[in-house]
Amino acid sequence: MATIIVVGAGLGGMSAAYELKAELGQQHEVILINNKPDFEFTPSNPWIAVEWRQRKETSIPIEPYVRKKSIRFIASGLESLNAAQQQLELADGQKLNYDFLVLCTGPELAFDEITGAGPDAGGTSSVCTLTHAEHCRDNVNKLINEPGHVIVGAMPGASCFGPAYEYAFILDKHLRDKKVRKSVPMTFITSEPYIGHLGLNGVGDSKGMLESELRQRDISWICNAKTLGIIDGKMEIDELDEDGNVKRHHSLPYQHAMMLPAFRGIAPLRSIEGLVNPRGFVLVDDHQRNPKYPQIYAAGVCIAIPPLSKTPVPTGVPKTGYMIESMVRAITHNIKAELMGQQPTCKATWNAICLADMGDTGAAFVAMPQIPPRNVAWFKKGKWVHLAKIGFEKYFLHKMQIGDTEPMYERFMLKYLGIDKLE
Ligand SMILES: Cc1cc2nc3c(=O)[nH]c(=O)nc-3n(C[C@H](O)[C@H](O)[C@H](O)COP(=O)(O)OP(=O)(O)OC[C@H]3O[C@@H](n4cnc5c(N)ncnc54)[C@H](O)[C@@H]3O)c2cc1C
Repeated sequence: MATIIVVGAGLGGMSAAYELKAELGQQHEVILINNKPDFEFTPSNPWIAVEWRQRKETSIPIEPYVRKKSIRFIASGLESLNAAQQQLELADGQKLNYDFLVLCTGPELAFDEITGAGPDAGGTSSVCTLTHAEHCRDNVNKLINEPGHVIVGAMPGASCFGPAYEYAFILDKHLRDKKVRKSVPMTFITSEPYIGHLGLNGVGDSKGMLESELRQRDISWICNAKTLGIIDGKMEIDELDEDGNVKRHHSLPYQHAMMLPAFRGIAPLRSIEGLVNPRGFVLVDDHQRNPKYPQIYAAGVCIAIPPLSKTPVPTGVPKTGYMIESMVRAITHNIKAELMGQQPTCKATWNAICLADMGDTGAAFVAMPQIPPRNVAWFKKGKWVHLAKIGFEKYFLHKMQIGDTEPMYERFMLKYLGIDKLE
C-alpha cells in the first residue's frame, strides 16, 4: 500500500484528494492535510466583502465530506518537509512519511514587501482569504458611514489581477445600492503596464473593454504603478514609464483600499534547495513533478511559472481554476502510472478560462493557450457571466461535498457555456 499525502485543501488540494482516491481505490491511502478545518471557495471572497455572501455560504467543513470517501483528513499546518527522507512534520508535532507528496499549498501573501500594506499592518484590505474578506467587509461598512476616496488594485509583483477588477466593479455597484457612490471617488492602481493586461499580455480586447467599464463607472486608473508603501495614511506610488523610469509620483490619501499583494511560496518550503525557485514556488516539469524530488508533485498557485514578459513594474502570470483542475488531473494519472510501474506521461493544458463578476454583469475571458500566440483569445461581457458565476459557485461547493471527480471546468465552462465550440 502506498501513502499519498496532499497538503493544502483549497481548490487544487480538495480536487486532488478526491481524484486520487477515486483512481487509486482502497489499496492505497490518501491523506489530506490543511492548516484550517474548512474548505473556502476563494473566488467568492469579493462577494463576502460587500455582504452578498456570508462565511457559511462559501465554506464547508472538510472532514465529514472527505471521510465518506475514505480520505483521512488532518487539520494541521505543514511545519517542515524533509524531501530527501520523504517525511513531513506538522504544527501539531505529527511526523508522516509518504510515497508521493502532492503540494497544493497556494500562495503566501507577501504584504510585508510593501510598507504598511495588508490587514495586519492595517494599511490596506485584502480579499485573498475569507478572513481577510470579512475584515474588508468591516472596512466597507465604515466607508459607507464615512464616505471618502477608495483605492483598488494590485501591488508590484502581483499575478492575480482578475479579483482586483472584480472587486472594483462589485464595490462600485454596492456603493451605488447604498446611495453613497457620489461621495466616493475611486482609483484603480495597478502594476500592470496597461488596463486589461491581467498578467497575460491581455486577452482579446480586454484592454479596450476593461478601460471602457472603468470609464463608465467613473473609476480613474494609474498603470505601471509601483506602490512604495502606506505612509502617514497616504498611499505612495511611483508611476513608471515604459522604460521603468519614474514618470510621476502620487501621494494619495484614502478612506478604504483593497490591494492584491504579490504572492510567494509558503514558508516551510521556501528554503528547500531544488524544490522551489527563489520566491518559494515549487518547480515542476511537464508532468507536474519536481525534477530533484520526483516523489513530489505540485498543482495550483504554489507552482513556479515564469512571467510571460518583462513589464516596467514586475507582474506575474495568474494561475486559475481551469489550469489547476488540469494539473490535478495530470498528477492523478501520473501517480497512478508510477504505482503501476510506468512512467508519468500526462501533461496539464495551461489554458486560462475565467469568469469575472461585475456586480450586475460580468466578463468572461478564454486564453487558449495561456501563453500567446493563442488559438483562442476571447473576451465577452454580459449579464450571463454574473449568473454563470453564481451557478459555478454553487456547483463547485456541491462537487466538494459529494466528492464528484468529473472535471468541472471542462464540463461547466466548456460544455455548458459553449466555450468548447470556440476552438
Ligand atoms: C480573491 C481571489 C479570487 C479568485 N477568483 C478566481 C476565479 O473566479 N476563477 C479562477 O479560475 N481563479 C480565481 N482565483 C485564482 C485561483 O483559482 C484561486 O486562488 C485558487 O483558490 C487557487 O487554488 P490553490 O489550490 O492553488 O490554492 P488555495 O485555494 O489558496 O489553497 C491552498 C490551501 O493550502 C492551505 N495551506 C497553506 N499553507 C499551508 C500549510 N503550511 N499547511 C497546510 N495547509 C496549508 C490553505 O489554507 C489553503 O486551504 C482567485 C484568486 C483569488 C485570490
